[in-house]
Amino acid sequence: MTASHPTKRPTDATHLDEQDVDLPKELLNLPWIDVHNHAHTLSWEDRERYALSGCRSMIMVASGYHWTPYKPVEADDIRYLWDDAVNRRAAIERNHFFEAKLGLGIHTGVRIENPDELLTAMGDYCELEEVVAIGETGVTPSQHVSSWDVDHQRAIVQAQMELATEHDLPVILHTPNRSTDSGRSYRPGTGIPGYEKNTSLGCEPVLDGDNPALDAVKIDVKAMRDAGLDDRRVVASHADGNNTEYLMENTDCYLSYTIGHSWLIGVTAADVADAIDEYGPERIMIDTDCANVLRTDPFALKRAIFELYRYGIDEEAIRTVVLDNPREVFEFEA
Ligand SMILES: [Zn+2]
Repeated sequence: MTASHPTKRPTDATHLDEQDVDLPKELLNLPWIDVHNHAHTLSWEDRERYALSGCRSMIMVASGYHWTPYKPVEADDIRYLWDDAVNRRAAIERNHFFEAKLGLGIHTGVRIENPDELLTAMGDYCELEEVVAIGETGVTPSQHVSSWDVDHQRAIVQAQMELATEHDLPVILHTPNRSTDSGRSYRPGTGIPGYEKNTSLGCEPVLDGDNPALDAVKIDVKAMRDAGLDDRRVVASHADGNNTEYLMENTDCYLSYTIGHSWLIGVTAADVADAIDEYGPERIMIDTDCANVLRTDPFALKRAIFELYRYGIDEEAIRTVVLDNPREVFEFEA
């Protein structure tokens, strides 16, 4: 009990000495890196939120899927997305101070008519200094509007991994999340509130096992090996409870937990803390995947820094996850 409190009768403050927690103030200013977002599709104000909350560097991923208006999709539609990101990147960096780099990829969530044209062009893009990753890409269990069989998808993914090997670039792997069953579905035709997507146009799955999300990751890992791409050059984004054990125990890939839309995929800072407890921080990252087509939170990564500490993760491990690992893999300057 602190004798010096002048309150008329004891308040909670009287007992605070007994509950003293040593909060590390350096977490307030710890810089962080978001290795997977689509910030070039966000508003100026959302990008400013990244800067205001201490984002040091980010990878803006341009790889299609949601932003190609025409179906079927042609190579030029994807090429436009790459060029849009290339066009705007420097201005975004100048506006907001953080280092903005690019990930360019061919995503298989929509079938592309002539993907070889993209693969041919991609080599030259890989030479650009601002392109620090290939992706996001990865076998997808079902497509939008028009199906893409698994063999073709795998070939596109593997070809990008071969380019990554050749150009010594890391790959941001899109690992599908296993959907969490909320126990109740929405009225037909309403879609998913918070996700700007005509879900009724989704095709029947091309992977039909019990766990297509994990089967897709296993195919990606085989493609990675066949492409001669080092495990340590692959960052599996959208890591979750369905793929963590497989990736941790069967590969040396990095796992990046997407926490910018937890309401949709169910992954939170608690999952990151559990993974750090179980496997250590050396192969773990966090990303936001913020995009204009989703209800997403540019502050998610900053919030996670505090959450991880509250969940018992020490400052050193938090720094490894949000700053050191991304810096090393993607060779950020800042
Ligand atoms: Zn994404």
